[in-house]
Amino acid sequence: MKKRAFGTTGVELPTIGQGTWDMPESGPRSREAQRALRRGIELGMTHIDTAEMYGSGRVEQLIGEALRGIPRDRYFIATKVLPTNASYRGTLAAAERSIARLGCEYLDLFLLHWPGPHAIDETMRAFDELVAQGKVRFVGVSNFEPDEMLEAAAHLRAPLACNQVLYNLNERGIEHRLVSAAREREIAIVAYTPFGRGRFLRSGAGRGVLERIAREHDATVHQVALAFLTREAHVFAIPKAASVEHVEENAAAAALALDAEDVAAIDAAFPRGVAGPLATL
Ligand code: NAP
Repeated sequence: MKKRAFGTTGVELPTIGQGTWDMPESGPRSREAQRALRRGIELGMTHIDTAEMYGSGRVEQLIGEALRGIPRDRYFIATKVLPTNASYRGTLAAAERSIARLGCEYLDLFLLHWPGPHAIDETMRAFDELVAQGKVRFVGVSNFEPDEMLEAAAHLRAPLACNQVLYNLNERGIEHRLVSAAREREIAIVAYTPFGRGRFLRSGAGRGVLERIAREHDATVHQVALAFLTREAHVFAIPKAASVEHVEENAAAAALALDAEDVAAIDAAFPRGVAGPLATL
């Protein structure tokens, strides 16, 4: 699995990780999703993204179960504190709760889910404290505009590892300012909802372009989309897949290299649109 530097953390992460929003919470589909998560780790998709919000903590528990028995250094777990919980004390408590649900001793990455009601310096002070206590290795933000991202970084002693944001072929707004602002500061971009939850293929003309490129590379349209989104050296993607088949397909996307012509054709078929506020879900 292709890996690249994750901001200035000193660690390398796979370009393609695994999302877990809406992971089935019970029954056979839930067990299949747990199997898929483990298969993804075997294939090198070790960056697992979750949040205390997902299933109100249930998804963290399911991930914890799925990870049991896998050596701790074989996966990289990212979770997020809800903005309403992100006071200084609330952030410390949220990290403890997530660690307990995940059963993972420490978090690799702790993010503020989106800008919220608590002063950003309070949350960042708690992040630094968690790093000092060894409960969290790295910290970052999510859904932050470029200036908000830089402000968060300015309040931290630790480096701001990443900004996790909406990015897919129909939502390319981050390419106007955020991608370059993050590159300049060596902050990683983590692309969430890279398939637009299945909607990225709705554009008829764009679909034809992706299908042609996929045929030429003996790949699938989902793999082409992931390769396009991660074409910059500091951008990662975290597709969610609840089946082994989808996980295997997504993992294989890391080996797909698009050439300049492919990139130009996709760029034209899925226009960037005009600059505006950050799109979120
Ligand atoms: P997504 O990854 O864009 O799409 C997930 C959908 O794509 C699922 O229905 C999945 O089906 C399907 N899929 C996955 N691989 C496929 C493949 N190879 N072929 C065909 N279909 C495939 O949507 P998302 O879950 O919203 O985003 C990914 C992750 O980003 C989330 O799970 C979450 O971890 C994170 N996220 C973060 C935020 C934030 O505010 N920070 C917001 C949203 C999402 P199956 O499940 O049936 O496999």
